[in-house]
Amino acid sequence: MKLLTSDPIHSGGLKAIIDMDKDLKGKTVAELGQIVVGLGQQKYLTKYIFQFVQTLGTTEVSQISSLSKAFREQLAEQGYYISQLKIIDKLTDPDGTVKYVFGLADGNKIETVLLFDGSRRTLCVSTQAGCAIGCVFCATGKIKLRRNLTAGEIVDQVNTACKDGHKITNVVYMGMGEPLQNYDALVKSVRILNHPAGKNIGSRHLTVSTCGIVPGIRKLAAEDIHPRLSISLNAPTDVLREKLMPINAKYPLSEVMSAAKFYLTRAKQRVTFEYVLIKGVNDKTLYAQMLAKLLTRTLQSSKDSGFRVDTSHTWRVNLIEYNPHPGCKFVASSAERIERFSKALEKAGVKTTVRFKLGQSIKAACGQLGADSSG
Ligand code: SF4
Repeated sequence: MKLLTSDPIHSGGLKAIIDMDKDLKGKTVAELGQIVVGLGQQKYLTKYIFQFVQTLGTTEVSQISSLSKAFREQLAEQGYYISQLKIIDKLTDPDGTVKYVFGLADGNKIETVLLFDGSRRTLCVSTQAGCAIGCVFCATGKIKLRRNLTAGEIVDQVNTACKDGHKITNVVYMGMGEPLQNYDALVKSVRILNHPAGKNIGSRHLTVSTCGIVPGIRKLAAEDIHPRLSISLNAPTDVLREKLMPINAKYPLSEVMSAAKFYLTRAKQRVTFEYVLIKGVNDKTLYAQMLAKLLTRTLQSSKDSGFRVDTSHTWRVNLIEYNPHPGCKFVASSAERIERFSKALEKAGVKTTVRFKLGQSIKAACGQLGADSSG
C-alpha cells in the first residue's frame, strides 16, 4: 500500500509517497526472515530486527545497533523504515480510562482505548479508519470507511501505549473498524503481538471482535493461531438484528451461529457474544429468553456433532449498556432492565457479564469511537 504523506515523521514536512509495504513494524518474524535472507544476510539477524522494532521502541533503521552498519545502510537503501504513530490527543476519564487519538501518516485519525481492570491493562485497538458496516448504534459507522490500517499501524497502537508507560496484558480488536474486513493485516498483527520475541501476548489474551463476517470467522478458524472471538449479536431475531446491523441481511443469524460453532469446535477457543442494550429496542426479557434458546440450541448441536464441550469453551454473553453519542437517538436501558435481562440469561444457563460504562466522558466507551475525530 502506498500513501501520500506530509507528516514530518515520514517526509520531513514535504509531500511524499511512502510505501507501507516497506514498514518493518508491520512484518512478522517469517516475513522479516525472508527480507534478511533475500538481502544476502544471515537469518539469525531477523530476531534482532524484530526485537528492536517491537519491544525496544526503535524508530530508525540506523538505530538497530545489533546489525552491522553496512546492513543497516542496505536496509535503508532498499527503502525499509520503521513507522510511528503520532499521538494527537490523549484524554483521561475520571474512571481512569485513557483514549488516544492517533494521527496516521496520510492525515487520517484513529482512536485507541486503554481500560484498567485490577492488574489487567486492556488495549482496545482499531483496525480501520472508519467502518463500512454501518451499525446504527455506532459512531464509527457514521464516518464510513476511509481505509484499512496496515499491520504496522495496528501493532503500533500497542507499542505506543507501552512506550507511554502501560504494560499491556490484553488486546481487544474492538476499536474503529471491522477487523475481519481487514483480514490479512489483522492476522499479521496477531502473529506479531503473540510472538515470544516481541510483546508475547498469549492468544487467549487477544480477542477479535466481529459483527459476524461469516467467511472471515471460518477463515480465522483454519489458521494455525487462534485469538478469542467475540461476536456482536445485539438481537435474537433476524428482523430485529437487521434493523440494528444491516450486515445481517448478508450474514443472517443462522449462518453467524453456525460459523461461531465452527470456530468453537475448530479453534477450541472461547466465543463471546456482545449485546448492546438499547431502551425499548432490544431489552425485553422475552429477547433474553430467545437469545438463551438460540445459544443453547447451537451449543447442543456442537455436542451432538461430537465436540466435547467443557465449561471454559461454552458461550458467554457480555451485556453492554448503550453509550449515547450525537447523531443517534437511542437511549440506554435502565439498570433494572439490564439486571432483568441478565438474570433471564443466567436462569437459562448462559454465563453473562454486565459491562459497565467506562470512559464515557471522553467518548471512549463502546460504540462512541470516532464521535469527535471524524474531521
Ligand atoms: S459496531 Fe463495529 S462493525 Fe459496527 S459500525 Fe461500529 S465499528 Fe463498524
